[in-house]
Parts: sequence; structure tokens; C-alpha cells
Amino acid sequence: MGIEIRYEENKLILPEISCDCGLNHGIPDIDIYIGQGLIEKVPAYLGQRKLGSKLVLVTDNIIYEVAAKQVLTVLENAGYHVNLCLLERDRPLIPNETALGEILLTLDNSTEFLLAVGSGSITDLTRYAAHVSGKPFAAIGTAASMDGYTSVVAPLTFGNLKVNKPAGFPKVLICDLEIMSQAPYHMFLSGFGDVIGKYMAKADWLLGSIINQEVVCPACIDIVSQAVEKCVDNVEQIKARSLEGTRALIEGLILSGLTILIIGHTRPVASNEHSMAHYWEMMQLQTGEEPPQHGLSVGVATVYCLQFYERFFGLDPHSFRLEEAKAAYLTPEEQARLVLDKFGAKIGSAIIRDNDQIGIGWPEVEKRFHTLKANHSRIRQQLAFLPKARQILDIYREIGYPWPAKAIGIDDRLLLNSLLYAKEYRNRYTVFKSAHELGVLDKLVSQVLQDLSHS
Ligand SMILES: [Zn+2]
Ligand SMILES: [Zn+2]
Repeated sequence: MGIEIRYEENKLILPEISCDCGLNHGIPDIDIYIGQGLIEKVPAYLGQRKLGSKLVLVTDNIIYEVAAKQVLTVLENAGYHVNLCLLERDRPLIPNETALGEILLTLDNSTEFLLAVGSGSITDLTRYAAHVSGKPFAAIGTAASMDGYTSVVAPLTFGNLKVNKPAGFPKVLICDLEIMSQAPYHMFLSGFGDVIGKYMAKADWLLGSIINQEVVCPACIDIVSQAVEKCVDNVEQIKARSLEGTRALIEGLILSGLTILIIGHTRPVASNEHSMAHYWEMMQLQTGEEPPQHGLSVGVATVYCLQFYERFFGLDPHSFRLEEAKAAYLTPEEQARLVLDKFGAKIGSAIIRDNDQIGIGWPEVEKRFHTLKANHSRIRQQLAFLPKARQILDIYREIGYPWPAKAIGIDDRLLLNSLLYAKEYRNRYTVFKSAHELGVLDKLVSQVLQDLSHS
């Protein structure tokens, strides 16, 4: 395989996707620019998409000083009429109903499009405001902190609950490497962690194809693998926050994010490591704590997941006992009760409504048990690309990545619960579901915690 990306004058040119997996591959209609000195070119890039000349520019007080002020001047000089929506905060911006209200109140009948200047929260708020107002939007990314610039879902906060609202992707995405390279170091680490999580996403997807006949898209797998390689091969440069390192990281993140647009869902880029990160975030929001940055959570969770895979690979399939599986099996009523108990009533009932894997019957689980037993060595072979948890921890030590979970504010109980129950958050298949179906989940989780307790 090998999907080559190239640039024409800073514009990312995606190759034709030729893939016979049978899934529909959409070619995303988005202009992506990555390079240096791009702020001067913003009016021209926007002009090419004919988005109009009257816009609302969304940013916060920190980004205003480092980038948005300059963008505003450049646009005004080029004849654009800019309404500024400055989200002023003395703490990190929370993408909640207050911020959204500020944006919506800045829009008026003359607004033709929105422009986000910022990273995750600002882009997601703008994405949703654009979606509900039926207007297009563009984005100027200011940090390589997550893979969601091209996402079609806006993770927002409503009250103390996390909500994932469907929305659109930007028509134009501009990533200026000089601005991105000046972002705080924890943003780099967050982006790096989000990319490292792709190991798990890829492994679980392939596992799902073996156990659950899921269709895997080799083109997406290839793109995501390239994204991870780009980052792992450039650890030194990323650590140094050089332009080269910044480019490797943002390219890795954007390529990952593009697979979501190509295939229409997040299976290529998110599995149990993301469910764990979401679980931590949802639980902490409910108790009024400030959750860690998304990518930092993903990177930390990934190490626990990799160790879990290692323990799973180490199992002897001859020792799999149907009685153990049967003993661990929960009836549909018990499954629903567990989800309500572990996620809380509000989120739990949404999961029960949306996740068709809650309530599966014993015959299906028994079938998977036998498939798992018969295919254990095949799984081990196909997933041999997975790094060891310790290899990733070596990289983490080198770049100063927070470790273990406690270092990002996740206590032992939350960690344990996430290892046992975060798998219920999505219907997608993961190795944690395999372990549960084999009746060995509790055992593997305690081994993993023991294995990593002194690392
Ligand atoms: Zn992510
Ligand atoms: Zn495909």
C-alpha cells in the first residue's frame, strides 16, 4: 500500500483512495493548508472558497494576542468585514452553553461565515454554532493538540454533562507552523497522546474483523499507520517543538482526522482508549472536577490498553473455559443495570438507547467465545505490530509525558472502573469485550494494574 500525501503551495493534496473494502469512501471537500507564514495568505485562501466577506471571528483572549489579532488585521486590510467574538476567560475556556451563547449573539443576519482561530474548544464551539445557524465555517488551528479539526462532531459541555453534537467540518483549515510551534508544551503532548491512541484503534478494529466480521478499510488503516509513524519517528523534533516536529505532529493528527471524513465514522481513530478518556471526563464533570486535556487522557489510557493486550496475548487458549464465560455473562437486564450504575442515570440511559451491544444474548457470546478460542494465535499474529506498553513508556519518559493516570488527576477507583466498564460506552468491539466474553476481564485488569504499578 502506501498512500502518499503531497503539497501544492502549502495545500495538502490527498491521493485518490483506491480501496476494495466495499465501504463508501467520501472524498472530503475541504482545503487544508499547512506551512509557514500562512496568516498573510488567509484572505486569499478564504477567497478561493467564496465564503463571503462578512464573518464572525471566534477566539479567546490568549489566542487573540498570539494569532487572532494578526488575522483580524490581515482580513480587515483585505476588505473583510469582521465581527469579533472574543471569549474572555481567566481559566481555560470550557466549550459550554455560555460560550456558545456568546458566539450566537455575535452572529446577525449579515453574517456569511464563521472563522475559528484556536484549537479544540474554539473550533468545536464554532463548528456547532455554524451548524445550527446553517452557515459555513473555516478554521485556523493554533495548536497540534488533537485530531478533531476535521471532525463532524462537536464535543461540548452542557451543565456538567458532556454532549457530542453532530456538526460539520470546516471548508478551509489553515495550520501555520510558526504559530503552532509556539503553543504550550502540554498541547504538543496532548496531540502526541491522541496519535499514540491510534495503535489501539487499529488493533481493536482488526480484532473486530476477526471476531465480529467487521469490515476494515485498508486505506484508512494505512493512513492512520502513517500518521502514527510520522510522530513516533519525530519524537526528538516534537520534544524540541521545532517546525519540523510541529509539522510531523499536525500532519499525523490531520491525516488521522481525515479518515473520519473518508469513511464517515471514527472507528479508524478511536476505541477503548478513547472510551476510557471519555469515561474519566464524564465522571469528573459530574463531580465538578476539571478533567485532563483530551489527548493527555488518551495517551495515558493507551498504555493501560497496550498492557492489557499484552496480557491477553499471553493467555493460553487451551485454558479458556466455557463455564467461566457463562459465569461472567450478564443478562440484558443485568447489563443495563450495570451501565446505569457505572455511568449514572442520565448518560447510562443514553448508552442503553444507542448501544446495540447492551443486551446481547448468551448464544452470541457463546459463539464469540468459540471464535476467540479458535483464533487466538491468529489475533496475536495480526496484531504483532502493537508496541509494548514499556516501549511507549520509554518515549513518554523521554518527552516528559505525564504518567501514570494519577499524574493527570485520575484516582485508582476511576482508573479501575474505566478499565472494567468504559468498554460499554460505545458499541464497537474491543479486546476488553473479548476478555469479558472469555470470563477473564477482572483477572486481566488486576494483572495490568499490578504490571504497571511500578513503572
Ligand atoms: Zn482523540
Ligand atoms: Zn476502504
